[in-house]
Amino acid sequence: MERQHTGVVVSGAGPIGLALAVELRLHGVEVVVLERLAAVDRRVKAGAVHGRAAEMLDRRGLTDAITRIQESIMVAAAKPALRGGSVPRGHFAGIWALRETPYEAAGLAIIPQDRLEELLAEHAAGLGAEIRREHELHAYEQDGAGVTLTVGGPDGRYELRAGHLVGADGGRSRVRKLGGFAFPGTDGIITGYQALAELDDPGFAPRRWNRYPGGLLVNGPTPGRLLMVEFDGPPADRDAPVTLAEVQAAARRITGTRVTLKSAASLTRFTDNARLADTYRDGRVLLAGDAAHVHSPFGGQGLLLGLGDAANLGWKLALVARGEAPDALLDTYTEERRPVAARVLDNTRAQVALLRPGPHVDALREIFTRMLDHDDANRYLTGVITGSDVRYDLGSAQDIVGRCYAPDTAVRTPGGEVRLADLQRSGRGVLIAADEVHAAAAAGWAGRVDVVAGTSGLAPGASILVRADGFVAWTSGDAAPLEDALTRWYGAARVPAA
Ligand SMILES: Cc1cc2nc3c(=O)[nH]c(=O)nc-3n(C[C@H](O)[C@H](O)[C@H](O)COP(=O)(O)OP(=O)(O)OC[C@H]3O[C@@H](n4cnc5c(N)ncnc54)[C@H](O)[C@@H]3O)c2cc1C
Repeated sequence: MERQHTGVVVSGAGPIGLALAVELRLHGVEVVVLERLAAVDRRVKAGAVHGRAAEMLDRRGLTDAITRIQESIMVAAAKPALRGGSVPRGHFAGIWALRETPYEAAGLAIIPQDRLEELLAEHAAGLGAEIRREHELHAYEQDGAGVTLTVGGPDGRYELRAGHLVGADGGRSRVRKLGGFAFPGTDGIITGYQALAELDDPGFAPRRWNRYPGGLLVNGPTPGRLLMVEFDGPPADRDAPVTLAEVQAAARRITGTRVTLKSAASLTRFTDNARLADTYRDGRVLLAGDAAHVHSPFGGQGLLLGLGDAANLGWKLALVARGEAPDALLDTYTEERRPVAARVLDNTRAQVALLRPGPHVDALREIFTRMLDHDDANRYLTGVITGSDVRYDLGSAQDIVGRCYAPDTAVRTPGGEVRLADLQRSGRGVLIAADEVHAAAAAGWAGRVDVVAGTSGLAPGASILVRADGFVAWTSGDAAPLEDALTRWYGAARVPAA
């Protein structure tokens, strides 16, 4: 069998695999993305990115491209803006009441998942990632020096040898299964459908989230887009093709109407399994996105969570792959991201509970809605849904350390004010150096960390080290010296050649 070599293989060209490829290429790591499908999957899945996910795309300079896509598809309803938008941050179980948090500036970007995948694929390829469509990962084995994969392509099977393999191959991840990663959690209790339908009576249900005794039906936001949920157990056969008759019968059962779906596209069936890999790393094999965690789509958190994984893993894996940081850096990926996913699984379980039909849940929703009138409760829940309150425990007493900055944060430099996000297009860390001593101390990490003389409102007057994923890793208010933080996150200093 033919044998090829590369730096990192990402299995799966979904949004998370592609976002990861972008991160790796920003650091010059050779990357091959394997994708078994011939083309982007056009079925309706996520319709928007929000919160931390929108911020990540902003940080990589994709805001303008997303805005263009958004403007080309937006219906009159609302025109949310990525920058400084004031639209609701989201809903919890269909209760549209969530407002902003202090840590957030990026808002909501209306972009269908297939268009996002196209954009990320174009960006990754432009940076030099090799995306191989119709190439399916069949098997792999790892040893101390790398991973050997068996791949099936249009011209038959071949072997691919890489330093690392990342399974970004979705909820039924083959990488996860072959690697024996445990995937505990709770079984599904709902059967849901999504469809783009032509209806005999488009007004059969109000254009909003509707709870009926028979279940949930969301009509919109675009005409004919339907999401339905029945709460009487998971689908009998998740792999059976979804038919128009099946979806129409569900719509009729839920609403008690005789609505007819004249035609429908993009039929999908889903349930609410909530499962989480017990580790995201086994040696040279890592998991990201749905491969590491699955849950119901309520609250639109799949992309949020997965893009957060890609942002967290990308620069760490690049540093390790380039031999600049020790393997142990990769352990921080599971340590930081797994608790975030565990919390998302729980909040999606809570949303399923709050969406069930019946007077008891009606009463609970009423109380919940009134609680969201209170700023503290609203801010708490907004933080949960957008990920804006995530704080990694990086061992610092400074509140800002371990938190992600808002991309609109202004950095005052001698040359004028700059958006912090715009300083991070490169994917490298950024040291905002309020003090020349700190700028000089970072010289040994040139190429891994960019130094910008200035200060920011995040910690006025202080120097701040911001990682590529936007999280603050150190401030000069910390007891530990800057060199310790740089070594911890970016490996040993490079000694200048004599
Ligand atoms: C009906 C529905 C509605 C949703 N709504 C939302 C929403 O509103 N908001 C939100 O944020 N999320 C939503 N999601 C979830 C979101 O779509 C996922 O979280 C997201 O797609 C995860 O991306 P991923 O890259 O991890 O996995 P995927 O998108 O599943 O991509 C995995 C890729 O790997 C490929 N692959 C699999 N096995 C192999 C193999 N062996 N070799 C090569 N390639 C392989 C697959 O073909 C696929 O392209 C929804 C999902 C569904 C199904």
